[in-house]
Amino acid sequence: MAKDTAPPANPNWRPATKLIRGGLKRSQFQETSEAIFATSGYVYENAEDAESAFKGEKQRYIYSRFSNPTVAMFEERLALLEGADLCRATASGMSAVFAALASFVKAGDRVVGPRALFGSCLYILTDILPRYGVETVIVDGTDLDQWEKALSKPTKAIFLETPSNPTLEVVDLPKVAEMAHAAGAMVMVDNVFASPILQKPLELGADVVVYSATKHIDGQGRVLGGAILGSHGDYMDEQLRMFVRHTGPSLSPFNAWVLLKGLETLELRIERHCKNATIAANFLESRKDISRTLYPGLKSHPQHNLAMKQMSGPGTIIAFEVAGGKAATFRFLNALKMIDVSNNLGDAKSLINHPATTTHQRLPEADRAKLGISDGLVRLSVGLEDAADIVDDLAQALDIAARG
Ligand SMILES: *Cc1c(COP(=O)(O)O)cnc(C)c1O
Repeated sequence: MAKDTAPPANPNWRPATKLIRGGLKRSQFQETSEAIFATSGYVYENAEDAESAFKGEKQRYIYSRFSNPTVAMFEERLALLEGADLCRATASGMSAVFAALASFVKAGDRVVGPRALFGSCLYILTDILPRYGVETVIVDGTDLDQWEKALSKPTKAIFLETPSNPTLEVVDLPKVAEMAHAAGAMVMVDNVFASPILQKPLELGADVVVYSATKHIDGQGRVLGGAILGSHGDYMDEQLRMFVRHTGPSLSPFNAWVLLKGLETLELRIERHCKNATIAANFLESRKDISRTLYPGLKSHPQHNLAMKQMSGPGTIIAFEVAGGKAATFRFLNALKMIDVSNNLGDAKSLINHPATTTHQRLPEADRAKLGISDGLVRLSVGLEDAADIVDDLAQALDIAARG
């Protein structure tokens, strides 16, 4: 185990400092940058030492399926930023979502969630959990009456995303959390779209926060990773800990190291993403060949005021609708010279995606329509390039698409 010679984290540090110094441990070599402990196991002084470690009498590393020093640095740094007691890192965002729910619910329980969810999250709620006897109720996340009705019965957990993928619907977190708590439900929030910089779900009433670290936390499209954050208590310390320990959705030390380094620049990157996205959203809204621009920072966003109350910035993702349906939209996508067609997001590179034919292809047409995922809708993850180059690329491709 690394000898801890780095100064301990100060909980009063501002976010930028926590992102660089939080969780840092140094080995006997006094390295500046965090070490990668590429090891699956650990050795013991003697047989008695191993016995006491397995009895839990001594806190130490036993096996990297349970914990690893590089992974622990990532977990501590993210927990410090989020203001959570504990963080448990996982191999991907989806393993975090699944572990968060599966460790908590059992047959006969009831779970409520909004329709506007990342496709794989919706699949867990509506396909996997019901197979294990869990009842899932799906609501329109922006309609408080539907939440109220769904939460009029005892409920074990609610799981939601805000803003949602891809149409950027915003859920009133304090109001929904209050109703959920009255129904006895734990409030789980997937905070990927806002990132830990722009929104603090734990301060808005959530009990548990889940991330795909693959997105903004890595921010450079290199590795998969996930995290679950919450307070000390039976859930984090026992149920989730034992579930992860015995089912093994563990984050690799190398990926944890990439994500640790990603955290160091997260605040700077999010600031630039937001600045670029605001410029791009204003440009898109001014175009006659764009029939709808959805961006929480625009006054025209249906929940603009709520978004600005819950989030400290407008976000990094824009959804917009190209006039002229699928044909014009594909002409536009194929004419882009710099922005890449890709379904990832939160990357330094600007990435664009057509949800109806990719991420949300499996949804029945009627469900897509309810979600506002039309044939012209695209999702733009605005990168860190110069904003003028992003706008130039959008403009030239829209001009080509309009010519038919
Ligand atoms: C990408 C994403 C996930 C899944 O994360 P992976 O790391 O790809 O497994 C979950 N929720 C949201 C909102 C996402 O965007």
